[in-house]
Amino acid sequence: MDTYLKENFQSVEARIQAACDRAGRSRKEVTLIAVSKTKPVEMLQTIYDAGSRDFGENKVQEMCDKIEQLPTDIRWHMIGHLQTNKVKYIVGRVSLIHSVDSLHLAQEIEKQAAKLDVIVPILIEVNIAEEESKFGIHKEETISLVREVAALPHIRIQGLMTIAPYVENPEDNRAYFRGIKQLSVDIARENIDNVSMDCLSMGMTGDYEVAIEEGATMVRVGTGIFGERNYNQ
Ligand SMILES: *Cc1c(COP(=O)(O)O)cnc(C)c1O
Repeated sequence: MDTYLKENFQSVEARIQAACDRAGRSRKEVTLIAVSKTKPVEMLQTIYDAGSRDFGENKVQEMCDKIEQLPTDIRWHMIGHLQTNKVKYIVGRVSLIHSVDSLHLAQEIEKQAAKLDVIVPILIEVNIAEEESKFGIHKEETISLVREVAALPHIRIQGLMTIAPYVENPEDNRAYFRGIKQLSVDIARENIDNVSMDCLSMGMTGDYEVAIEEGATMVRVGTGIFGERNYNQ
């Protein structure tokens, strides 16, 4: 199991490097987030030992359990839809919340962050393909949400996140990745106080290489590292 996981990790690493080379980008510009949801801590430890310090989870309880069992230098990324009543459990413990898509949620993060006197880095999640089934704000509404959230003193917007549609051919998502990159450039140009557009979290197992070619600074890879997920366990 160990060897198999490490080989997966190294092969993802090699493909990231190749995509960076094709795009004329430095490998340092792209953070690989190992998406470990549903996977046991032993597997996370193996990937940690292989060199990863960034892990992504989509459920608050599962993330908190794992935080307690794994090394303290891990950067935890909340990538799943976040309910307001769960915010208090992760503020101060996660290094980035990728999935902020409403003022209501941002206000709750602000409230909890103020209590702890911490600043919480977040990304705004955009539903770039306007899929009914997905969370995220529509492209047209993004800038007004960014302005509203930017006014909250304990939150720092670092960029945008998107979950592209599930496709067989990753090329089918290239236009979406390009679109969200453009959106981030447009927002950056507005020079809104407390807002940076340095992070672009996009690309998963099926399409992370195309995402890197289009400007991703964070790719979220689960299956490609840990193998298929079994939700029935
Ligand atoms: C599960 C998940 C991923 C990883 O998906 P894979 O296709 O397994 O790489 C990435 N981003 C989000 C938001 C996820 O929920």
